[in-house]
Amino acid sequence: MVGVMDCWTSSSELRKHVLNSLGELNITPSRQRGQNFLIDSNIINYQINQASIQPKDIVLEIGGGIGNLSKCIASKAKKLIIIEHDKRMISFLTNFLQDFSNVEIIQGDAVKTEFPRFTKCVSNLPYQISSPITFKLLEYSFDLAILMYQREFAQRFFAKPGTKNYSRLSVMINLKAICRNLKTVKPTSFYPQPKIYSSIVAITKKDDVHLEDNEDFSAFVRMLFTNKKKTIRSILFNIIKRKEKQNILIERKVLETFQFMDRRVFTMSIEELLQLYGQLKERIGEELWLNMISPNMK
Ligand code: SAM
Repeated sequence: MVGVMDCWTSSSELRKHVLNSLGELNITPSRQRGQNFLIDSNIINYQINQASIQPKDIVLEIGGGIGNLSKCIASKAKKLIIIEHDKRMISFLTNFLQDFSNVEIIQGDAVKTEFPRFTKCVSNLPYQISSPITFKLLEYSFDLAILMYQREFAQRFFAKPGTKNYSRLSVMINLKAICRNLKTVKPTSFYPQPKIYSSIVAITKKDDVHLEDNEDFSAFVRMLFTNKKKTIRSILFNIIKRKEKQNILIERKVLETFQFMDRRVFTMSIEELLQLYGQLKERIGEELWLNMISPNMK
């Protein structure tokens, strides 16, 4: 049976919960673990509203902390699964959420823990793991994620080719998902106050991406964006040189016929990267091509 507790009615109630809980735990929030807790009830209410949690939803929360967001999710969802790394938070959460029979708490590093099946992910992420968690989420199928990121990190989701923020993340997230920048959150909404602004982002998986060799394309994008300011020619020719040392021969003349050779990596749109990927695979031959993009073969 789902519990009946209401969500936060005011920021002063939420702030009291955060300060009392930290006092009870007798801990100083850890910066390395991104332990900045929301004390602004409007922000939590906004996130819950945007997540539009239905009684059929199985919600994943990464980093439950002292349960300020968890409580609001648990009262609406069919099930809430929390992954929290800090053992001290686990016993607190277990106690704080004891009225809810629909909560499962997993102690572990969310980067290394296999995610259970979920329909929505609602989390105020520890910013240190934003990148691996976002790439990991993209491997799963889900309806909607409402996530809090450091503002500068979130800007990469919306960066256009040729701009400073355009990165491997920009390519992969826009290949697989649709992102909406929902709200900027001030440092004063957290305790302790971070020095940076945050952004709440909505991520919806695209269901029309049927890239058979998804992992190989990811490896290709990773290989290129390691040196995103270099030209495609310079990156490919460097690999060819390395392969020649291993007696793996790839004809340079073939590469010269491609249209993107003089382009710098960070100017390539997703469509152009897909086109280049297809051309290379077809013209070089699949086996050689996989050998080229496989990081273990370098
Ligand atoms: N949910 C709370 C809130 O909304 O205020 C706390 C969010 S706080 C920004 C991030 C939480 O993630 C902390 O409780 C921290 O202990 C936890 N955390 C940090 N690294 C983690 C990891 N690798 N895996 C799982 N949880 C982690």
